[in-house]
Amino acid sequence: MNTRNLRFRSNRVSDIMALFHEELDTLYGSGETGVFIGMLFEAFLGWDKVRLLTSKEQTVDQSDLLRFHWALEDLKRYRPIQHIIGCTEFCGCRIAVSPDVLIPRPETEEIVNWVVNQFSTLNSQLSILDLCTGSGCIAIALKKALPAADVTAVDISSAALEIARQNAQNNGVDVNFVQTDILNSQFSILNSQFSIIISNPPYVRESERAQMQRNVLDYDPALALFVPDDDPLRFYRAIAAIARQHLAEDGMLVVEINEALADETAALFREHAFSPAIHTDFRGKQRWISATTVNRKQ
Ligand code: GLN
Repeated sequence: MNTRNLRFRSNRVSDIMALFHEELDTLYGSGETGVFIGMLFEAFLGWDKVRLLTSKEQTVDQSDLLRFHWALEDLKRYRPIQHIIGCTEFCGCRIAVSPDVLIPRPETEEIVNWVVNQFSTLNSQLSILDLCTGSGCIAIALKKALPAADVTAVDISSAALEIARQNAQNNGVDVNFVQTDILNSQFSILNSQFSIIISNPPYVRESERAQMQRNVLDYDPALALFVPDDDPLRFYRAIAAIARQHLAEDGMLVVEINEALADETAALFREHAFSPAIHTDFRGKQRWISATTVNRKQ
């Protein structure tokens, strides 16, 4: 493309910022547009916030201007900023993302931080199983925070596991990745006992599509999100059955949940002889359940 056709008034940083605000503020609000601008300058030019604030009269070269142009076009189509820059931050880990994996959410980060707090003072050898790992964010962040733990992570999608493996390598951690379908009753994992079984499975009902944002619907993989309305807890039933077999007696099961189904999900775990507790996230939504086996020795 001839860069003279770009709508930026000049190559100046202040003009790039101005066009982003003109075209995106009505879609995202000016605060979020400002966040996008900061993330793009960081990704494209390696500039931190201070550098950006003090460089508004500087110019960028034509090839960088073109990258800002395409980023702006993508954002107008609600392409997630994480897909544009190819990665996101999760619990201090840099996690690459693609359309094959769910973009890690801050709610999930909160759950991982909570788990780390529960277990960080424990000296016994931990083994962790992460079901439906996707990008690998949960498994990788747990291994980073609890380095002595043995971590196994499974997913049905080989494309997701490829990204998860890459993410583990980029973060310098060792995670054992296994491709398997947890809904398949043949599910078996060699190491039979885990101290933590954790999962963020698909839990959004098809009927909830109407309330969802375009950036999620158009770009996150449906495989990682949706469950049928007539059986929305199917993954939790499978997880409960796996945990009955593979959770150590003093272990803990932790699952992210659909806030609209918290009580039903807790009841399901109770039926499988677990003692569940529902936890509320930073947005005030019932977001995860932790459960121990009822025969746990106190
Ligand atoms: N919290 C995610 C969303 O609302 C859903 C994650 C999931 O289904 N596990 O997009």
